[in-house]
Amino acid sequence: MPDTLPPSVELSHLDHLWFQVSGTLCNLTCHHCFISCSPKNDSFGHLTLDEVKQRLEESAPLGVKEFYFTGGEPFLNRDMVPILVETLKFGPATVLTNGTVLKDEWLETLRAAEAASLYSLEFRVSIDGFSPETNDPIRGEGTFVRAIEGVKKLVAVGFLPIITATRTWSDEDEQQVVGQFVATLKLAGYERPRLKILPPLQLGAEAERTQGYRETERVTRRMMNGFDTSQLVCEHSRVITDKGVYVCPILIESTDANLGDSLNEATQPYALNHGACYTCFQYGAICSNASSAVRGDK
Ligand code: SF4
Ligand code: SF4
Repeated sequence: MPDTLPPSVELSHLDHLWFQVSGTLCNLTCHHCFISCSPKNDSFGHLTLDEVKQRLEESAPLGVKEFYFTGGEPFLNRDMVPILVETLKFGPATVLTNGTVLKDEWLETLRAAEAASLYSLEFRVSIDGFSPETNDPIRGEGTFVRAIEGVKKLVAVGFLPIITATRTWSDEDEQQVVGQFVATLKLAGYERPRLKILPPLQLGAEAERTQGYRETERVTRRMMNGFDTSQLVCEHSRVITDKGVYVCPILIESTDANLGDSLNEATQPYALNHGACYTCFQYGAICSNASSAVRGDK
């Protein structure tokens, strides 16, 4: 097989099911958003509670182990709280939020639902700097203070959110930046903060901000020799959108990533032919709750 053809990744087992629950609608317009979400981007719409329920039932016989909710901002979906309550009947759930629109009563309901469930509910809150000066130029004026308020609300009801930050600093500064993040979060009352650093994905708004991927930044068959494909989200996940099932939450704007309407149809292998696949190869575990590992060998 020539090395110019992209390698394909088989779905080993559908362990994780993602929901693009608020489509591409977000209250923020971050400069690095890899799917260019904004208050006006309705290219993908909200999923309703009934749609999510149907998908949860479709997923049960397939042995899905965990559920993830993303957008856009999931909590713009008016069904978000009942959606999470319903999901906790099926398995552990994680919701990715910017933390700026959380309401105390929603979090109290969710804490009670988690306490009554066999399964855990995790929050990931995106904050891209340890201060307004470092965060707001990327995520928008006033967003640092609002996100920290969201973290405080989560901690107050007993959640331990995973703070996710996109790496916009150099490798040499990493330790210092992480230290400042931890200090800021402790000052906000989050005693033992959990932090996940993500590489930027050069798609959407981020591709306009930077240069996007070069043609040479692609995964080749040779690079995959000996590579642990379980590091890739597409090896064990699929994402539900209002336009069908896609291979992963990173590529929903790519038509070739739409694999069909049903989960059974969407089990086909996928050819890693996008620049974003190169970032997944380099860093691995981008979308899981675990910390990203940095790979030095490209
Ligand atoms: S990065 Fe997150 S918070 Fe920012 S615009 Fe995109 S979806 Fe919204
Ligand atoms: S972007 Fe990442 S998760 Fe998506 S298909 Fe490519 S390698 Fe897989």
